[in-house]
Amino acid sequence: MMAGSHVALGVAAWLVAAPHLGLPAAAPACLGLAILGSLLPDIDHPKSWLGKRLRPLSSTVAAALGHRGVTHSAAAVAACAWALSHGGAPRWVVDPLAVGYLSHLAADMLTPSGLRLAWPLRQTWALPLCKSGSPFEPLVVALLLYWAGSGTLVPPLLQEVWNQSGMAQLVPPHDGGIHHAKMSKRSQ
Ligand SMILES: [Zn+2]
Repeated sequence: MMAGSHVALGVAAWLVAAPHLGLPAAAPACLGLAILGSLLPDIDHPKSWLGKRLRPLSSTVAAALGHRGVTHSAAAVAACAWALSHGGAPRWVVDPLAVGYLSHLAADMLTPSGLRLAWPLRQTWALPLCKSGSPFEPLVVALLLYWAGSGTLVPPLLQEVWNQSGMAQLVPPHDGGIHHAKMSKRSQ
């Protein structure tokens, strides 16, 4: 998939996963790390968005490992998460990176090329819904974003924005009740 699609799905995946992981969904650092994680697997492709910006490194990785090899496998996620955790990285760093990374793998599985998810096994895993860069890609991404947003994403996010804005403290606790009572009286 294209970089923009990976970023959108990485952010959505993080916003959905964060409340379950007990981490702040809207924290800019976590969102940035989720975006980084969503782009990181394509370091094995010199023409990807990240590969172009890290050209000497991406060319070396592509030559050594090939595109959609070990970087696009469950082993890569586990190894990176293990290395970061044992290196002393806190969960607010490891978790969004891992979620973003996993979202990239899930998104690439929706293309016909699929992934060698269980690398080093040669089996390819795919649920081919659209080719990378095809006109159907934005449609598939939009449907996934709608699915993520309609169920779990929007209500907790609005609640968090409301809590962090400080407005929750400014509103007297009984105000809602009085307002509600007035509304019910009027509606009778
Ligand atoms: Zn990829």
